[in-house]
Amino acid sequence: MVESKIGEMERKCIYCGDHVSAESVIDFCGKCGKDVWGEKMFNAIVQNMEEAREKGDLVSTNTIGLTPLERKFF
Ligand SMILES: [Zn+2]
Repeated sequence: MVESKIGEMERKCIYCGDHVSAESVIDFCGKCGKDVWGEKMFNAIVQNMEEAREKGDLVSTNTIGLTPLERKFF
């Protein structure tokens, strides 16, 4: 089971290392997100993540199948 470090203040984009807002529900910047998934898909992911957070159930990006893309980028 992979657990994200919830509560960590300094956050960086998992793709380009750019600063990501501490309040952000995603682990990457909007620029990379739209680059990888396209604007429509990216917005859908962010919306899903925000809805999950509102329920107090923050979901790690690893659970939505982003791991293969991480490998590709590193
Ligand atoms: Zn980025």
